[in-house]
This record gives sequence, C-alpha cells and structure tokens, in this order.
Amino acid sequence: MDAIFSYMQKYDYENLFFCQDKELNFQAVIAIHDTTLGPATGGCRMWNRYDSEMDAIEDALRLARGMTYKYAAAGVNLGGGKAIIIGDPNRRDREPVFRVLGKFINRLGGRYITGEDVGTTLKDMEYIRMETEHVVTLPTYLGGAGDIAPMTAFGVVRAMQACCRKVYGSDSLEGKRVAVQGLGAVGHNIVGQLHELGARLTVTDLDPGKVKALTTEYGVTAVPAEDIMDVAGDIFCPCALGKVINNDTLDRLKCKIVCGSANNQLAEEKHGRLLEDRGMVYAPDYIANAGGTIYDTDRLESGAVNHDRGRRKVAGIYENMQQVFEIAERDNIPTYLAADRMAQERIDRIAAVKKYRD
Ligand code: NAD
Repeated sequence: MDAIFSYMQKYDYENLFFCQDKELNFQAVIAIHDTTLGPATGGCRMWNRYDSEMDAIEDALRLARGMTYKYAAAGVNLGGGKAIIIGDPNRRDREPVFRVLGKFINRLGGRYITGEDVGTTLKDMEYIRMETEHVVTLPTYLGGAGDIAPMTAFGVVRAMQACCRKVYGSDSLEGKRVAVQGLGAVGHNIVGQLHELGARLTVTDLDPGKVKALTTEYGVTAVPAEDIMDVAGDIFCPCALGKVINNDTLDRLKCKIVCGSANNQLAEEKHGRLLEDRGMVYAPDYIANAGGTIYDTDRLESGAVNHDRGRRKVAGIYENMQQVFEIAERDNIPTYLAADRMAQERIDRIAAVKKYRD
C-alpha cells in the first residue's frame, strides 16, 4: 500500500482511526470497512513484526474487510472492523494498554466492537471491558460466551458435511478418512466431534504432547507433521497455519475435500482454482471457520448468551456452504470467489432495505 486514501477508496472503507499515548508508548489503529449490516466488529490484534507503520495499517484495513465478508456470508448483522495495537504481544503492562484502547473504542460510541485475536487474550478483553461495553469476546462470568473453539470446530464439521453431500451424495462422515493438521483449541475439538461421527482419523501436531493426548483418548493414528499432506483419504482438515495450500503442497494432496479452520489457507487466490482443477472441493476458510464468531456475536443481537440458539445458528454453516456451491455453479466460478460473491450480494440486498430510515 503506497497511499492510504487511494487504498481506502479502492476497497470502499469508511473510517480509519489512529490512537496513541506517549507515556504508555501506545500506538493502535482501528479500521472500519463497511457498516451496512451493523456496527463494525472484529478482534484486536497485538503485533510488532511489521516492516513499517504502513504495513500495520494495511493489515488492519485488510483484516477489517475480511470481517465484513465473514459476517455477511454467515448471515450475521454486523459490519467489518479490526484494531491493531502495534506492539510486542508479550508486553507485560497489559492493564493500562488495554484500558487505554478501551477508552478509544468507547469514543467511537459503538461503531466498532472489539474482541480477541492474535496476540490478545480473554484477560485483555476484561481490561477493555473496564472502559467500554463495546467488546464481544468475554468470559462467561462477564456475560460472554467464553471459549468459542468448540463452536468453531462444530461449524467446520457442518461445512464438512455439506462438502460430503456434494461429493458423495450424503452428509455422513461415518468411515470417512480425515487428516487433521494441528490439534490446538479447534483441531482437538474437531477430532473429538469427528470421532463421535465415526470418521477414521489421522492427526498431527508439532507438539508431541497434544498428539499423545488424542491418540490415547480416541485411538487415532498419528503421523509426523511433515507427512500429513501425503495421507490418502477423503478430507484434509487444516487447523494450524495459513498458506497451507501452495505450489509445493497442491500435488501432494490425495483427498476429495479440503475443509478446516485455519485462516487464509490459500497461499494465493489461484490455488483455489487449482484445487478444483485437481478434482477437489474447497470449503472457503471464512465460511467454514465462522462458527465461533457466529456463536460469540449472537448475544449482541439478542442481549444474552443462549446456547441452543447460538448452536442452531452455527449449524447453519451447512446451508451457507450449499449456497456457496450453488453460486459457484450458477456463475461457473471457484468456491472461494463464490463465497465473496455471496457476501457482497447480501450486503447489496440489505443496503436496499437500510435506505429506509426508522
Ligand atoms: P492453536 O494455536 O490453539 O492451535 C494451533 C495448533 O497447530 C498448535 O497445537 C500448533 O502446535 C499446531 N501447529 C502449528 N504449526 C503446525 C504444523 N506445521 N504442523 C502441525 N501442527 C502445527 O490455534 P486454534 O485456535 O486451534 O486455531 C487454529 C487455526 O484456526 C488458526 O489458523 C486460527 O487462526 C484459525 N481459527 C481459529 C478460531 C478459534 O475459534 N480458535 C476461529 C477461526 C479461525
């Protein structure tokens, strides 16, 4: 990005806010992409490995736009936003840092709602909550949904079922061979849920302790981390890193479906088409991994956490995937593009409603 305004104009951003406090050595940006559907919502990232301030600003803008599409495609009435604190994610004086951010967020009067992201924790959200109510990710004792990874996992499983319906004509995961990469918060929940549905699982993680825990609990097969993409089966489920589908890995995959929780799975957009050229169905990451955020934000629309209602909404990821497939067929485009189109079409439809003032 060379110039801020031309970038904002290119992707039609609404606002960009700069926040700083000299005494605390605090610098943050808050990007608001599109509020057609509702207040801009998206996590707060704390990161310092940017080449320049411009890189950090671009990251905030890019991530905010991603949130607009994620909510729109998920049928959630929220817009896209993101905050980035440019700073060491291991910084120790967290209370003043996050309370200052909370003050700045409060000034925006609810136009931006924050949450947890890379480099921030639920504890940080508690500090923000001391200064503003505009924070969604909170522990249960503060009225939030608590740990959302099980719901992210459930959403991924629903997306897998929709992919199985497309490929095999049935939702059933019984007997399906699934290779899971990454057994962290989401991956280990996916393994548990798939095990219950009768899938045959091969797993890996860089952390041998996590592998051991699951092989003992569920009797699943484990392979070294570098071999997981060579496992022949039905589904590859990436739950660790981004850019896992790339020039080096494409031809190693021996499966029919790629569906996991990892963000930014495609190294480049073209890899979405290249997967399809090789006969694989790709579940766009932001459709498949929206479960946690759908569940988390449900209370913003309705006042309080309601597990049954939230879970029912997450289950709707199945229908969202089906709609992606329909649009992909209708317009003869790969699924990753169909997902963007589905999101944009919803924003356009609701914009037509919003022109009528209450
Ligand atoms: P996590 O940090 O708890 O787990 C990631 C796991 O991947 C770790 O156990 C790590 O050891 C392992 N790992 C890292 N590199 C690996 C490699 N090369 N091979 C095998 N294992 C490797 O993270 P998480 O919360 O489970 O999230 C997983 C992915 O899903 C991330 O990309 C995250 O951005 C995305 N995601 C998570 C959520 C959520 O609710 N937590 C929601 C949406 C998207």
